[in-house]
Amino acid sequence: MLLNRTFLFFSFLLIFQIHANAQDMRWLKHQIGILSGTTMDGRGYVGKGRERAAMYIQREFKEFGLQPVLPDSGYMQVYTFPVNSFPGEMSVSLNKKEIAAGTEYLVDAASIGFDGDKTKVKKINLDKARTKEEWEKLKLEMGDLSKIYLLKNADSFCRRMSIRSHQLSENLPKGCFIVPVHGKMTWTVATDTTSNTVLYVQDSVFPKRLKYASIHIQNKFSPSVKNQNVIGMVPGTVKDSFIFITAHYDHLGQMGHDAVFPGASDNASGSAMMLYLARYFASHPQRYTLVFVAFSGEEAGLLGSKYFTEHPAVPLSNIRFLVNLDIMGDATDGVTVVNATEFPREFKLLETINQTKSNLPQIRSRGKAANSDHYWFTEKGVPAFFIYSNGGKGYYHDVFDKASELSLTNIDGVIKLIQDFIPAL
Ligand SMILES: [Zn+2]
Repeated sequence: MLLNRTFLFFSFLLIFQIHANAQDMRWLKHQIGILSGTTMDGRGYVGKGRERAAMYIQREFKEFGLQPVLPDSGYMQVYTFPVNSFPGEMSVSLNKKEIAAGTEYLVDAASIGFDGDKTKVKKINLDKARTKEEWEKLKLEMGDLSKIYLLKNADSFCRRMSIRSHQLSENLPKGCFIVPVHGKMTWTVATDTTSNTVLYVQDSVFPKRLKYASIHIQNKFSPSVKNQNVIGMVPGTVKDSFIFITAHYDHLGQMGHDAVFPGASDNASGSAMMLYLARYFASHPQRYTLVFVAFSGEEAGLLGSKYFTEHPAVPLSNIRFLVNLDIMGDATDGVTVVNATEFPREFKLLETINQTKSNLPQIRSRGKAANSDHYWFTEKGVPAFFIYSNGGKGYYHDVFDKASELSLTNIDGVIKLIQDFIPAL
């Protein structure tokens, strides 16, 4: 790790290269462990974990020798947005049997609270709603805030009515609804509430005949939650031209006390990689000034990056390129590059580096997509890639996305690729 800057500047053309070694991979693993650990509460909107993660990243930036970009507030860019969260008691029993939050059921993120003890469950067969008129009629059988309804055939209903499954709750009337689901359950963050409580329950835990349920859920809608993007830079020889390396550190947080979403792959892994690159480039400055941003509010709708592009710390037109890292826990099948088709010259550069160095088995090309923090930058004309890894067990937005489940296969290859790509831009 003792190469000087002149050497590094040409390193793309040379065979010699600094490589992430085993010790570096342990460092990366350690960072992922911290960011997805128990003290971080899933980096969401229950507890202090989100704030702790921001402070931790700021501390790392300072330690690496990164400089603040913002004139007044140091490394932190503070802003707010509304959030619906579930900080309180949460318990669900079907007939007499209590079921487990996170693994056996999820509460729709936009739900309001509900309190019902041994409340009779009314069965509603959504197959009876074949047309919009029939649906309006069926809705009249529901709509009581104190009642629990079991919705049968919600899947086919959504297909028939062209409702996406995550939009089901906003199409339902008042009341508490139990929706049986099969297989993977995916949680999210809501910035508003619906007028109902919707529970997605694994069909495997249903009793033969569901007669009554006890449901206690408390939600908290906060109209203005403080969030912060953490920003640091490594000045280059060209001061007013920038390359950005970004990753979001927020995740879904907690659903009640028991269900924690650690977000190891999404996106402690990308945050850790961003930290790794910040540490590396701090001791290997480049021609461009490198700006590192840990975004917040991504899971709530790309809100941190949206705020940044509306209140940019540097002129957006001076950003030569942005590399956004999200989902970086397992690159067994290489990576996918969003915006590859938008910026073919830079994509070719990535491919050429990879062909020369054989860092990754595959680099897939993808077009534009509004699926991570690069999006608002692209919309404002900033050339950007969003790179995500392909591999792993498929844990995503669930309680199983833990550090222990990440293999980190080929992640050193992704790091090497970016280490070569940045100086070659
Ligand atoms: Zn996510």
